[in-house]
Amino acid sequence: MTSFVDEPAHLVQLRDSIRRFVEREMPRDAVRRWDRERMFPREVFHRLAATGVCGLTVAEEYGGAGRDIVAAVTVIDELARRGTALAGPYIHCAFYGGLNVSENGSPAQQRALLPRIARGELLFAYGLSEPDVGGDLASVATSARRSADGQTVVLNGTKRWCTGARVADYILCLARSDPDTPRYRNLSLVLVPPGLPGITIVDIDHLGLRYAATTDVILEDVVVPIEDVLGGPEGWNQGWRMLAGPALDVEKLEITAVAYGIAAAAVDDAWRYAQERRQFGKPICAHQSVRHALVEARTKLQACRHLLYHAAWLADQSRPCSVETSMAKLFIAETAVEVVLACQRILGAYGCAEGYDMERYVRDICVMPIVGGSSNMQRNNIAARLRLPE
Ligand SMILES: Cc1cc2nc3c(=O)[nH]c(=O)nc-3n(C[C@H](O)[C@H](O)[C@H](O)COP(=O)(O)OP(=O)(O)OC[C@H]3O[C@@H](n4cnc5c(N)ncnc54)[C@H](O)[C@@H]3O)c2cc1C
Repeated sequence: MTSFVDEPAHLVQLRDSIRRFVEREMPRDAVRRWDRERMFPREVFHRLAATGVCGLTVAEEYGGAGRDIVAAVTVIDELARRGTALAGPYIHCAFYGGLNVSENGSPAQQRALLPRIARGELLFAYGLSEPDVGGDLASVATSARRSADGQTVVLNGTKRWCTGARVADYILCLARSDPDTPRYRNLSLVLVPPGLPGITIVDIDHLGLRYAATTDVILEDVVVPIEDVLGGPEGWNQGWRMLAGPALDVEKLEITAVAYGIAAAAVDDAWRYAQERRQFGKPICAHQSVRHALVEARTKLQACRHLLYHAAWLADQSRPCSVETSMAKLFIAETAVEVVLACQRILGAYGCAEGYDMERYVRDICVMPIVGGSSNMQRNNIAARLRLPE
């Protein structure tokens, strides 16, 4: 049965309260400055956390609001309409932290970390990629070795493209923990505080996502207790199961919600600009080609909205949704690029000018089909899940 329903009252209220927060705490000028200075406005994030939204991926018994994936996606969508400044850190707390620890943490990790995550006190960074490893994560070379007494783990290797390592409390490092067991059964996820001896962090200059530095993280004989393996000692060699488990379906949606929010902001800005800018004696929105471009962008956005929230709803209900979440990531990331570039053209030269938000939207949106599982990875996943013969 197909059903079409209005957004439930609690989501309308949440959307409204985030919009008011954004207007009050994230004025456009401040957001532009943060982006220019590549600055994480930690005190503004604390005020966001005080509204309780970081608890949307944390069970009530740990001080959260109870798992509500649609609500958490709504928060990202609304924050991203002002850019990635807080949408990014929110993901690093509620998703990288809240989701993974709730899903795969040991009871001790859940007791220690989840209440702090729910209060927005902890940020996590993802240390998955490496210089020679992108989509093929099962091939990571960073090694994790257990000491003879089994009580500690020693990490060596280089993580690349680690966003937020400088501001995070923990880097979730994917490491090869057993050279002798078969692929997919030889990986562990390890919680690594970035201030430990043996860690060097080196900034990478790159396009987009300036809400926090993206870095290389070099690990040289870094020692952590076995309790800091995600899942505790029982999590040893269970990293792939955790990475590719149910949490992955939700993970695909977080960057998708960012892409959607940025595209929505671009459409709103272009829609407004086209009514204000006059050429040839009339507002440019009165020229048919500009009119059509605006309407096409808004229509594509509407299609994205349905895919995103339907997939989020399936994930929230814990229904099988690997295909739908991959379709949402694939379609929305690719369509959002088209939408933002079309909107940039409507702003003409001002769409390329620093100080106009459009230029930032363009920088940020270009990264979306690459991060969080590239478009080709989503295509491969959909084809495999739908059993398309090779
Ligand atoms: C700004 C930014 C921030 C990032 N932040 C993080 C982070 O915080 N943590 C982290 O771990 N990583 C991060 N990444 C890395 C990101 O997740 C990777 O870029 C992504 O996984 C793709 O890996 P790759 O770029 O090495 O591409 P590769 O895997 O080398 O792929 C290159 C191209 O080949 C295609 N390709 C590869 N294999 C196949 C295949 N089997 N079939 C079809 N096509 C294929 C890909 O789709 C892509 O187009 C970040 C990247 C950027 C740019």
